[in-house]
Amino acid sequence: MLVALNNGKRVFASQAKRKEQYLCPHCHSQVVPHLGTKVIHHFKHKPGATCTYKSESIEHLKAKEIVFKALTARGLQAQVEAYVSTLSPFGNRIADILVTSPNGAKVAIELQKTNITENDIIKRSKAYADANINSLWIPFAPPKLSKELAGEKGYCHIEKLSATQLMQWLDKIHQDRAWIYDPSSQMFWKYELSHHLLYVESTDFGGGYFKRSKRWHDVSFYGPYKISDLKIKKANLKKIPATEYQLASLIRSE
Ligand SMILES: [Zn+2]
Repeated sequence: MLVALNNGKRVFASQAKRKEQYLCPHCHSQVVPHLGTKVIHHFKHKPGATCTYKSESIEHLKAKEIVFKALTARGLQAQVEAYVSTLSPFGNRIADILVTSPNGAKVAIELQKTNITENDIIKRSKAYADANINSLWIPFAPPKLSKELAGEKGYCHIEKLSATQLMQWLDKIHQDRAWIYDPSSQMFWKYELSHHLLYVESTDFGGGYFKRSKRWHDVSFYGPYKISDLKIKKANLKKIPATEYQLASLIRSE
């Protein structure tokens, strides 16, 4: 995690001191600052802790830092690893980043590295919605995709991609505005899914036509964009018929 408590105050790992005592804001067990030169400064639980933040990857920490810094550099009020208490039956949440617009609208940004089912995405989005918070989900590009995107610029079409449930859900919700984060380049790509078609060979029993693959998609990628090239905009709900839960959308800055 990037933030821990020192005498009840939130302290960033980048400002932590080795000899001070820090507690996890979520499970309140002791955490140790890791202030090396190779990876981003962060706090780590001691072995044996049972906390959701225990096995967080360095890539995820970095992604949170990039987005958080970009938002605060624009003068927006943002909090990293923000506790959100909801009255929702789906429980309380810890947002990777919680940003508040000048008019008070709140958006939770979730940088999703691990696979998650559509059912869970909807539950978590609904928990935020119940706390009057929009949610914006950005999946991580899996390593194989990250490799294929390396060095690409502008437009990149990839066939036979095994898209995660989150990628599919976001594509459905945002139509042409779903985003993915590439941890290798630390850049963002806009993507659009289309059906991958499989040819069914013609035989005496039929065939001779194309059918939609259930396993694969063909995907168009546009980018890459730096986080500083993007801005958050509250989406027009009328344009998003598929759900009432996903309200925020990340769009290209003009
Ligand atoms: Zn903890």
